[in-house]
Amino acid sequence: MTTNTVEPLADITPAAVEVHDVHKWYGAHRVLDGVDLTVRPGEVTVILGPSGSGKSTLLRVINHLEKPEIGYVSVNGELIGVKQQGGRLKELSERAILAQRSRIGFVFQNFNLFPHLTVLDNVAAAPVATGRLGKPEALDLARELLGRVGLAEKTGAYPRQLSGGQQQRVAIARALALRPGVILFDEPTSALDPELVGEVLSVIKDLATSGTTLVIVTHEIGFAREVADRVVFIDGGKIVEQGPPHEVLDKPQHERTRDFLSKVL
Ligand code: ADP
Ligand code: MG
Repeated sequence: MTTNTVEPLADITPAAVEVHDVHKWYGAHRVLDGVDLTVRPGEVTVILGPSGSGKSTLLRVINHLEKPEIGYVSVNGELIGVKQQGGRLKELSERAILAQRSRIGFVFQNFNLFPHLTVLDNVAAAPVATGRLGKPEALDLARELLGRVGLAEKTGAYPRQLSGGQQQRVAIARALALRPGVILFDEPTSALDPELVGEVLSVIKDLATSGTTLVIVTHEIGFAREVADRVVFIDGGKIVEQGPPHEVLDKPQHERTRDFLSKVL
């Protein structure tokens, strides 16, 4: 038996996320203007760009919280949003959208924890609600994940009793509880006091090195340099340039990228 030939992984596995020619308008305001983006399984993509450039909208389109006017998104090889059927664009059923969204983790700037639930129940809620796990299994998983983000001692606390950094780590554990194919982060440290940023970035860094597929919108350039496989710079709803961090951050090709970096570095 000859097993010496190794198939290149990238050629046989579907992209974790594929955004194809996505256009999005709010009224007459074009917010995404033909965005193409491919994220491979295990890849860490950092999205940079000025305020109002369309970063959050792009994440929301990937998660189907917004629908593009043109283009499509697929996640783990499954189309999200619109699909072509008999030449017509057809929307997925709400049920299909929910099923797909439950495979995508989303971590928000403002944590968005359930205030009336303990930390443990915040993390265990989604696997139970989606029918993936029974309550006892979900609680076991929640304990394991809270240990992973360094909060084993806080399982019985309520969100208001935690610091912002701790709340954001709970939110990350909650995202992990659905065993998502990809986790999207929208400025996960922007709402934190500066001394709490490091603990959250360190948890995200652990995920990055353990092979989780991540798409992270952040202004933390040092973090991007350290963890990103690819940095994508977006401005005016378009990807202006993308590449490995040492190229985009150290040798940006476009004036708009240079201008942005000079303001945030
Ligand atoms: P970023 O996250 O890069 O700051 P956003 O994706 O939030 O940018 O927003 C891009 C543009 O779209 C901004 O001009 C914003 O005002 C506009 N926008 C975002 N959401 C909406 C909405 N729901 N309705 C109308 N305009 C919106
Ligand atoms: Mg935003």
